[in-house]
Amino acid sequence: MLGWSVTRYDTFTFCKRLYYYQYYGNYDHEYSRHEINTLKKLTTIPLEIGNIVHDILKTFLERLQRSAKPIDQNRFFAYSKQLTQRYSDAKKFFETYYGEYESIESLEMLYPKVEQCLINFLESERSDWLISRPEEEKSKWVIEPPGYGKTTINGYKAYCKVDFLFPSGKNLQIMDWKTGQPHMEKHKKQLTAYSYWASDKFNHNPALINCSSAYLFPEYHEMDMSLSHEDILAFSKIVQNETFQMWEYCIDVEQNLPKPKDAFPITVSINKCNTCNFKQLCRR
Ligand code: SF4
Repeated sequence: MLGWSVTRYDTFTFCKRLYYYQYYGNYDHEYSRHEINTLKKLTTIPLEIGNIVHDILKTFLERLQRSAKPIDQNRFFAYSKQLTQRYSDAKKFFETYYGEYESIESLEMLYPKVEQCLINFLESERSDWLISRPEEEKSKWVIEPPGYGKTTINGYKAYCKVDFLFPSGKNLQIMDWKTGQPHMEKHKKQLTAYSYWASDKFNHNPALINCSSAYLFPEYHEMDMSLSHEDILAFSKIVQNETFQMWEYCIDVEQNLPKPKDAFPITVSINKCNTCNFKQLCRR
């Protein structure tokens, strides 16, 4: 059975054909599995910057848990630079695949923003506050839990993977790192999903869960949100409704078997194709 997630439903609404290639590409008879998987794995410069910053912040927080010794900033930034290079070398970029750039010079094209995001974070009050937490409190931090964040919402399978969760007094605080532009509606939905996941997993009153999107660029700021019991109920209905919509495209919901590709139409908004990994297949 398919599992709801914010990303999956976003893809579903963006373009049904993209949704097909992304989630059911193995069933396609027109193109090879290799070609579809290659396109599926393409990353972009903004996506990879986000990925790198997330992983560095994870390492940073785990280091705070292990030791109260001050962070050596020279070593921290040298590590960040190395990681940027290593990650970029291992990936195929959309921008080179489709000819926008001949090659990706990671230290010029990715690292400046990675570094600025990290500087903004290190200079934030949030960073000082986290560093100052007592050891016993740090041991309760949940930093990018392993797996895909599988859960159930209103009885429906769903995936919600939080970046960082920690106790704050009686409350639970969830942080979601953002390196791109604020996108209020989308981010609010993500935070609601995380709250739902946390209240379910830790059996915690949703009214005592705070969520924040932490924007790391161009300067650090947090967008906070807390939810009422009614918000949680409304959200579970949304998940149900969106799951039903995606089930409509399955011939077998239990086995998550898709209808034939023709049932997944190409988008009418041709502009969307400019940024789509699969544009060589649709030839638009
Ligand atoms: S290229 Fe356009 S039509 Fe084709 S999958 Fe992508 S967004 Fe959809």
